[in-house]
Amino acid sequence: MNAGDGIVLGLSRGRLLQQSLDLLAETGLQVHTPREREMLHPTNAEGVQVLIGRGIDIMTLVARGAAHAGIVGSDLLLEHEPDNLHQMLDLRLGQCRIVTAALERPDAGARAAGGKMRVAAKLSHIAARHYSDAGRQVEIISLRGGVETAPLLGLCEEIVDIVDTGRTLRENGLVEQDVIARVSARLIINKAALVVHGARLNPLIADLRTIVAERTGAGD
Ligand code: AMP
Repeated sequence: MNAGDGIVLGLSRGRLLQQSLDLLAETGLQVHTPREREMLHPTNAEGVQVLIGRGIDIMTLVARGAAHAGIVGSDLLLEHEPDNLHQMLDLRLGQCRIVTAALERPDAGARAAGGKMRVAAKLSHIAARHYSDAGRQVEIISLRGGVETAPLLGLCEEIVDIVDTGRTLRENGLVEQDVIARVSARLIINKAALVVHGARLNPLIADLRTIVAERTGAGD
């Protein structure tokens, strides 16, 4: 893949995609064929291509300079702490929170026999940091998904997970405890790309900053 002299903008597929496309459209950037396929999509702007992929892959591509800018959730940035990129702007999209949660009725699950409290998490680095900052010794159990069902199954006493409406927690008999972080979509820019492609990237950053400020001012 070679973007030539142009820039590649990475967008996270899934719940952020449509909102990201709408935001870019407000700056005048239209993506042709914006399907969730991992391919380079042409746009109406000369020298600007859009890549749609998993958020974590977009983050990696921007950190390594294969994509020049991108839109990803701040949960990924907190979990992976990538180097070589600027978190340029809070786009205020996809707002949710990372919380700790436990069973409302602890007797519905199993208790650790004696030892450390067990915590299941997909965001295991964030979870480990949270409990260590609180001076609590816990065992982090890393899962790729299905974290919310873990306490009922007796795997753990607490979980760390992303919550939007809170419905998934309720459905699994869990109650929210601490809010570890508020999450929203961020504009990320590769550090070297900002120097080399500043002429293209700076106007885009400025337009997005104006639009986000206007939306926020309007109470959106
Ligand atoms: P909810 O039931 O609305 O609280 O949504 C929670 C479920 O959706 C959990 O399984 C989360 O992992 C997932 N989720 C919610 N918001 C996000 C997000 N912004 N990024 C990734 N996963 C999310």
